[in-house]
Amino acid sequence: MTSLPTFPKRSPEPTRCESFATRLLHTGHELDPTTGAAAVPIYQVSMFDQPSLDQPGEFDYARSGNPTRRALEGVLASLDEAAGAFAFGSGMAAVSTVLMLFSAGDHLVVTDDCYGGTYRVLTRVFRRFGLDATFVDTSNPAAVRAAVRPNTRALLVETVSNPFLRRTDVPAMAEIARQNKALLIVDNTFLSPYLSRPITEGADIVVHSATKYLGGHSDVVAGSVAVRTPALAQEIYFLQNAVGAVLGPQDCFLLQRGIKTLQVRMERQVRTASALAQWLEERPEVREVFYPGTGAVVSFRLARDAMAAPFVQNLRLPLLGVSLGAVESIVTVPARHSHASVPAAERERRGITEGLIRFSVGLEDLGDLSEDLALAFEAARHVA
Ligand code: PLP
Repeated sequence: MTSLPTFPKRSPEPTRCESFATRLLHTGHELDPTTGAAAVPIYQVSMFDQPSLDQPGEFDYARSGNPTRRALEGVLASLDEAAGAFAFGSGMAAVSTVLMLFSAGDHLVVTDDCYGGTYRVLTRVFRRFGLDATFVDTSNPAAVRAAVRPNTRALLVETVSNPFLRRTDVPAMAEIARQNKALLIVDNTFLSPYLSRPITEGADIVVHSATKYLGGHSDVVAGSVAVRTPALAQEIYFLQNAVGAVLGPQDCFLLQRGIKTLQVRMERQVRTASALAQWLEERPEVREVFYPGTGAVVSFRLARDAMAAPFVQNLRLPLLGVSLGAVESIVTVPARHSHASVPAAERERRGITEGLIRFSVGLEDLGDLSEDLALAFEAARHVA
């Protein structure tokens, strides 16, 4: 068996705090020992001069380890209550690196309305390498049980699916995974570690598109993988270094800065989202509202598909496009944006029609947002 390299140790020992709000600020945010700088410096380097041939330094080459990334990874591990965490160049780099744990002939059970990019990489890339996936409604444990095969190596679920925001019961999934000696991988992008920490509920691996709530400011593309055990940390570290989709130091710095305000942003965004979901229920222009009772994303189906274009064009406040989880509200038409890579027939089967709108609620004032939506509904309601 090949011996796996150890992943760099964090030093000094981080402060361990019970409360999430305090951990956001004080766990893992190492101070620069020489200057006491309040933020971790950006080590914009690719290599590290070694003290001698026989005694390698703690860092040698920045794909294998970089102090700015190591500091961020300590914070990510603390937030997810994980044995280790690893920062990647995007959420998809994080998902893809985790998928490289598996081999040809292995099988996964995956949330059916998962992120379109996850569906694409599984069906158009990993399937070519012999990794098979069955897509089922993972909010239904019986459907998951029925999809498990003798070669099932993992369940890959999203805590809140996309775009219908269906909740998956993580402890129930952990039970099924354990009974079948499979790993439970949870994509927790939509809830963030503030609202849900799947490792404490039995997940083995947690993935985030850190581009969303962790970063929070629409200024960085990043991914995180957090793991339950030191053995899994070794395996993911091996893959991170071997495959090389690491997050650069500038982006590590930005992500660490964004994380400090995760709780205050989420508290406010969830409050506004839940009020908006109730408000949308009353609107005659809306046929269905999808809100899982938590989180800051609300999806809704317009009364008619043809209303989608005039509706989004008449919104003044939210940004229009593919992301979510930012301080600015973002409106997405999944059929055109996040799920455009899902084949049309499959989109239709899943009910992802043109009139389905996903609204990621930002930090704007609730009154301003509802007024903006009301004006856009007014402009769209007369469209045939
Ligand atoms: N997982 C989920 C649930 C997502 O919503 C996204 C992106 O929207 C990703 C993964 C991929 O993340 P990224 O865009 O950072 O590659």
